[in-house]
Amino acid sequence: MSVSLDTLVGSERARASAASTAPALFERPGSSTPVADRIRSRLQAQGARFNANDNIHAYLREGELEALQEEVADKMSEVLRALVIDVDQDHNTQDTARRVAKMYVREVFGGRYREAPPVTEFPNVSQLNELMIIGPVTVRSACSHHLCPIMGKVWVGVMPNEHSELIGLSKYARLIDWIMSRPQIQEEAIDQVAELLQDKMQPDGIAIVMKADHFCMQWRGVKDGESKMTNSIMRGSFLKDSSLRREFLSLIDGARL
Ligand SMILES: [Zn+2]
Repeated sequence: MSVSLDTLVGSERARASAASTAPALFERPGSSTPVADRIRSRLQAQGARFNANDNIHAYLREGELEALQEEVADKMSEVLRALVIDVDQDHNTQDTARRVAKMYVREVFGGRYREAPPVTEFPNVSQLNELMIIGPVTVRSACSHHLCPIMGKVWVGVMPNEHSELIGLSKYARLIDWIMSRPQIQEEAIDQVAELLQDKMQPDGIAIVMKADHFCMQWRGVKDGESKMTNSIMRGSFLKDSSLRREFLSLIDGARL
């Protein structure tokens, strides 16, 4: 049950307003505090960042994602009403808020809320120390600025050493999808991908190239359907060894970059 502050008087009003900011209330089961506020207060208490492309799974409790999805649906319905769309009469948009909330929370931004996909690392028993290239991996995301789709391809170069852990080919796509299923900025996305793969595999070097269409350039703004953004990140041996870097770039160029 929610009680409007307008219906309360004097000390009741003071108590209600104090309670609404007291951290203890956020943790009370069945509290009418919005679930987004409860999660946010936990993040803030830990000094954790919760930018659009951060994963906040560790701060969610059992059942909260379902509640969050409902909350987003309510707010999305208000957005549609603010756009003066008749969500009560228009059969096409009656369920739109619910669908968009599900799409955001479970699908296109799901990488903010779910745990990292499980990945088994294998010891590098045959002591591979040759350049490995994985890709193109198809990536789908949305820009943090307009929430417009980003669709593209990623290539990954790995230079393993005898102590590196290796991961199965399909796992690259899963890990990359987990990073990309968040509102992203392409430069930050490839940095996060490099960080994650470096952490999982501990190779001598890692190289990432991403080429993507940004629909905020095509659907709105300059409406330029041709422009793509390509960026790269080179770490470790790819940074130090220019012939390794050239080898990687020439091989993926052959793969029709
Ligand atoms: Zn944009």
